[in-house]
Amino acid sequence: MKGELTGGCLCGAVRYTLRDGFRLNPYACHCTDCQSRTGSAFSEHMLFTLADLDISGDLDAGEYDQPSGAHSRIFGCARCKARIYAVNDSRDGLASLRCGTLDDSASFVPSAHLWVRSKQRWIRLPEDAKAMDEQPRSSEDWVAFVGIAGR
Ligand SMILES: [Zn+2]
Ligand SMILES: [Zn+2]
Repeated sequence: MKGELTGGCLCGAVRYTLRDGFRLNPYACHCTDCQSRTGSAFSEHMLFTLADLDISGDLDAGEYDQPSGAHSRIFGCARCKARIYAVNDSRDGLASLRCGTLDDSASFVPSAHLWVRSKQRWIRLPEDAKAMDEQPRSSEDWVAFVGIAGR
């Protein structure tokens, strides 16, 4: 997804604009951490350059030490607790957007499905879906598997 994107939280107190810039395609993550964190079956993320994000409203942060050792912080609306984006100290300058907060979230189709080995059994992926049992391990693998938006 290229171009400027807008979105916000559930109650409307937090609004953001993501300026056009380097970002990867959206992907679905079926890991058990995402299931616990979202209270849902999977989460839909998009890696983007944090400097491209203009965000307004009161945010608070949740913190979590990932099994990989990375320290993750997730930012959301202090009032309604809708989660907007996350950063972790293993990927400098990049953040991961929760795609469901986009105004036009219905037009986003995940380019890849990660952690398919812990996918909930009732979910059927499209036949042509790119799927990985776990997740890419290096930046190069992320770019190769998930793809750069607009290319
Ligand atoms: Zn809110
Ligand atoms: Zn996940």
